[in-house]
Amino acid sequence: MGYWTDGKKEIGVFGLGRSGRAAAALLRLRGFSVTGLDDRDDVPACPDCSRMVTGNELKNCLSGLDGIVISPGIDPALPLPSAARELGLPLIGEIELAFRNTDIPVLAITGSNGKTTTAEWLGYTLRKAGLNVCVAGNTGYPFCRAVLENPDADFFSLEVSSYQLQTTETFRPLAAAILNITPDHLQRHGDLEGYINAKARIFMNQHNSDLLVLNRDDPGSIPLAGRTSGLEWYFGIGESLEAGAFSEGNSIYYSDSRSSKFVIDTRDISLSGLHNLSNALAVVCLAGKAGLSTEQMVMGLSSFPGVPHRIEWIRKYRGLSFVNDSKSTNPDSLKVALKSISEPVVLIAGGLAKETDYSQLRSLIADRVKVLILIGDASEMLENCWSGTAPVFRESVMENALKRALDQSVNGDVVLLSPGCASFDQYSSFEERGEHFRKLVEDLS
Ligand code: ADP
Repeated sequence: MGYWTDGKKEIGVFGLGRSGRAAAALLRLRGFSVTGLDDRDDVPACPDCSRMVTGNELKNCLSGLDGIVISPGIDPALPLPSAARELGLPLIGEIELAFRNTDIPVLAITGSNGKTTTAEWLGYTLRKAGLNVCVAGNTGYPFCRAVLENPDADFFSLEVSSYQLQTTETFRPLAAAILNITPDHLQRHGDLEGYINAKARIFMNQHNSDLLVLNRDDPGSIPLAGRTSGLEWYFGIGESLEAGAFSEGNSIYYSDSRSSKFVIDTRDISLSGLHNLSNALAVVCLAGKAGLSTEQMVMGLSSFPGVPHRIEWIRKYRGLSFVNDSKSTNPDSLKVALKSISEPVVLIAGGLAKETDYSQLRSLIADRVKVLILIGDASEMLENCWSGTAPVFRESVMENALKRALDQSVNGDVVLLSPGCASFDQYSSFEERGEHFRKLVEDLS
């Protein structure tokens, strides 16, 4: 029995959001006594905490605690975690706690973009092949909750973010994929190197039979090569690879270093866009490591419906297609969406802008977008950035943006919501924004 698996200790859980509450539930079930810690004064009650310390009281909360679990939202450099470390208190994150409390093998996925899609796609593909697989982690279903509720799973397909990886210690996935690296969350990680090193923690404990899968097409992933103690495989588009998964022409192959086998025609994959071809190749590698034959991969690759709010096709109405990409909260994902649609696009973008350069999209917008409809806080800034690329309309709210889109489009166009911005100026989350758009589109008649 280890420090984090047998009870009789008083553990503080810092950050009582979804992950913190799941950690508290797991700890309590293992016999620990849990103190809930949160810097908000008005934090909702936590049924698995025997004690709560909140707001200003937090300053004096460490005495009496035997260890601390922190949620991914909590920066480990904050005063409280730093003070805990100085006192020598054991401190881990929620992912580490879950990992210590399960023997079920983990297939883990990280990267700057595509994590949720790939983790869900992998789970779906393994289930279609008859395995009992639970998708968890950064998807919104915390790993601790998954460990509690799925004792009979064959595998966890786990999405892990760089924040979650910062506080792992012994976390060791059987197979790990890093989809891509583009600068993100630099404030918390200090710089790009700090961000890359956080991602590298996904494979830092791997043994020689474990697998790391990297993206051959992503220059940002180059610094990760040659660093795992496990096997290093690649996935890539348009080039044959010795070990991993690749596409050549319209064929996808899986190669386990002994032989290359045809898996599926790229045109039979259920999600479109080159980015999804890349995600599918990562799924092939991980599914292969989980023991699926190439024949067993086909069903999942060809019928996965996708994840809501990620370039999600909603319906056709009066010859127009409507696509919800509300998850697009930065210019990179807007770029991906525009590249994946070949029809003329009536684009609804805007919201709360990220501190980044939106003018990088000018030529792509000029090329693909026939009308720009801008909403929210960022609309004026975006109009300035993109002026001259396409006709612009600024609208206050989604209802008006959709009316304008209907006015401005003709048979065959795609009306795309891909904001390229956060949603918090008008919505509580990108999900709420996407649901709103979907409802308005479904109600059109
Ligand atoms: P994450 O969980 O990493 O945020 P998602 O699977 O939710 O990623 O996808 C979010 C958006 O990222 C998608 O709508 C798409 O625009 C973009 N995306 C998905 N996969 C990739 C990829 N492999 N490379 C680049 N961008 C991608």
